[in-house]
Amino acid sequence: SLSNRLQNVFSKLKGKGKVSEADVNDAMREVRLALLEADVNFKVVKDFIAKVKEKAIGLDVSKSFTPGMVIIDIVNKELTELMGGTQVKLVKANKPPTVIMMVGLQGAGKTTTSGKLAKLLQKGNHKPLLVACDIYRPAAIKQLQVLGEQIGAPVFSLGDKTSPVDIAKAGLQHAKDNGNDYVIFDTAGRLHIDEELMDELKRIHEHVTPDEVLLVVDAMTGQDAVNVAQSFHEQLELSGVVLTKLDGDTRGGAALSVKAVTGCPIKFAAMGEKIDSLEPFHPERMASRILGMGDMLSLIEKAQAGIDADKAAEMERKMRTAEFTFDDFLDQMEQVRKLGPLDQIMDMLPGMNKMKGGMKDLKVDEKQIGRIEAIVRSMTKEEKQKPELLNHSRRKRVATGSGTTIVEVNRLIKQFDDMRKMMKQFSSMMGPKGPKGLKG
Ligand code: GDP
Ligand code: MG
Repeated sequence: SLSNRLQNVFSKLKGKGKVSEADVNDAMREVRLALLEADVNFKVVKDFIAKVKEKAIGLDVSKSFTPGMVIIDIVNKELTELMGGTQVKLVKANKPPTVIMMVGLQGAGKTTTSGKLAKLLQKGNHKPLLVACDIYRPAAIKQLQVLGEQIGAPVFSLGDKTSPVDIAKAGLQHAKDNGNDYVIFDTAGRLHIDEELMDELKRIHEHVTPDEVLLVVDAMTGQDAVNVAQSFHEQLELSGVVLTKLDGDTRGGAALSVKAVTGCPIKFAAMGEKIDSLEPFHPERMASRILGMGDMLSLIEKAQAGIDADKAAEMERKMRTAEFTFDDFLDQMEQVRKLGPLDQIMDMLPGMNKMKGGMKDLKVDEKQIGRIEAIVRSMTKEEKQKPELLNHSRRKRVATGSGTTIVEVNRLIKQFDDMRKMMKQFSSMMGPKGPKGLKG
């Protein structure tokens, strides 16, 4: 994957006391290939590499104390810039309701995302109205109604015999009459961009004058997603993009190219089929995720919302200092369980992703976590603090005690070691004060 490839490039650089211009060039050649393979737009890659090189040479990294780190820092910052730099919030109308129009190809995730967005707005104490403007796709209205019911948000529909433009007009009026401060229009999509679709969307646009036109694109489609964004933007003047299916096996190309090619900010990212899997898009977090540092910030934010502040702070400190034992591991598993769907959380932890990969055959689910916990609980106090004590006979005892096998025990210990190593790398990379501590 892109993450793995970039990590390889950087692990070569990290140890170096001196970095020559040739080293930088080598590294950049590999970064370039990794980005192209991840389906990032060719021109975007070219500009990106040029910028990184320019900064690296400008800083004269060869004179720096930790030249490898400086380069990683530059790449991290440029990746962040590429995706827009900072989080871009939804526009809010001066006079409510704020009108949001969702557009995109069929299957991109418009209807699902409309529901998720309504849920996010509700969490911010807003009263969104969903409007069903897709009269073509069988059961599209029903799909929106089910989502609305699930989250307790009203859904406005006039069935499938009224034109989408008339539905949109009536929906907007309904919102005004009922004190809804946000209106979300779920529109129809096609398999490909065609004139008829664009005409209909333009007509809706004219009548409801949206504050936001959000294009929903499937991140799995890579550069196609970027081409789609380009065409929609030319015709409808998008205000933002929502990337969906980032939970899938995406290569990163869409996330990295959309902003650079279209100029439209990515405002949200959807990472699952569940209703609460939509998040504001944070370029800096995505960059560190791509660089394989795990999404520490998201996790810590979630942790702070879900568990008490002391524990969160302690967890963060331990991760940074890599003073991490099996006791902490268990503790963390318990905390993590409270935070939400395990798959999502696991993706955010440095090293966990790898761990998940190593257990493909076992699949990360609650049952699997139960087995991991059983293994850890079968260790003695000393073993949990000092995993290096776990020789073969102790491992056998742990396997028997936990009702698992020696293979599973070995694997867990190996993965735990890898994770500790990654945390160490991560903390040395970030330093106690974050990436800025690198310069010096
Ligand atoms: P629309 O045609 O654009 O309205 O797309 P839908 O909202 O009907 O979504 C199409 C399919 O994609 C549905 O099966 C959704 O459950 C799925 N989907 C939407 N967003 C995501 C996501 O972020 N992750 C995953 N895994 N599936 C998603
Ligand atoms: Mg739909």
